[in-house]
Amino acid sequence: MSLLTIDGVWKHFHGHSVLRGIDLEVRPHEVVSLIGASGSGKSTLLRCVNLLETVDDGTITLDGQEITDPRVKVDDVRKRLGIVFQAFNLFPHMTVLDNVTLAPRQVHRLAKGEAEEQAHELLARFGLADKARAYPDRLSGGQQQRVAIIRALAMRPRLMLLDEVTSSLDPELVVEVLQVIRELKESGMTMILTTHEMGICREISDTVCFLDGGVLLEKGPPEKVFTDPENARTRKFLRSVF
Ligand code: ADP
Ligand code: MG
Repeated sequence: MSLLTIDGVWKHFHGHSVLRGIDLEVRPHEVVSLIGASGSGKSTLLRCVNLLETVDDGTITLDGQEITDPRVKVDDVRKRLGIVFQAFNLFPHMTVLDNVTLAPRQVHRLAKGEAEEQAHELLARFGLADKARAYPDRLSGGQQQRVAIIRALAMRPRLMLLDEVTSSLDPELVVEVLQVIRELKESGMTMILTTHEMGICREISDTVCFLDGGVLLEKGPPEKVFTDPENARTRKFLRSVF
């Protein structure tokens, strides 16, 4: 059974269709990458999954529950999803430890000690054990983004949504964030990510989806999409990014 099913999703902004009937299934442990030119609708699709946008037509089902049903509580859905954006969005006035423990304590009602124990474990796992007491402005961009990912993981999400998480990093810092994504994949985390890093996309994706003007034009395993795309527009896009 699929973990997430996107079925015929449409989204319009000011009469302009940004998503045009998107169908996508994500199986447990699957890593799905969304690629496509800027403005093709990748971020909007992730935002619809996280209920940051309402869909205009179609449905999204998570773990068998239709989350686009207006009666569904948004917070109950967001508890099950981790989302990380291009900008790090850490709380600047809180230490790394407090950033990571805040949501588990408030949302999952974890006791302070338990939340901190879990946070220390995650920080150690991702090479940030010595940064627990640091404030975000003392960390490099790569470290901040790793903390943002850890903060999302601390909620033990069913699904991680990663939107261009390496785009605002200097090239030498991209590597350390990609390493985190690799490790998440190895640990079996289900993920949907958007990226301009075609190398990592090819390496870690089980499925690559090419979006063009809000249409999911092509979907398949990376070996197929990258080497033998069916659609001329996919070929053109890939030529422009390689
Ligand atoms: P991508 O992530 O692939 O670059 P986006 O999903 O951010 O694309 O954007 C798709 C289109 O939707 C763009 O034309 C963008 O300008 C438009 N768009 C996104 N969010 C909004 C919004 N809140 N209001 C109006 N237009 C939006
Ligand atoms: Mg985007």
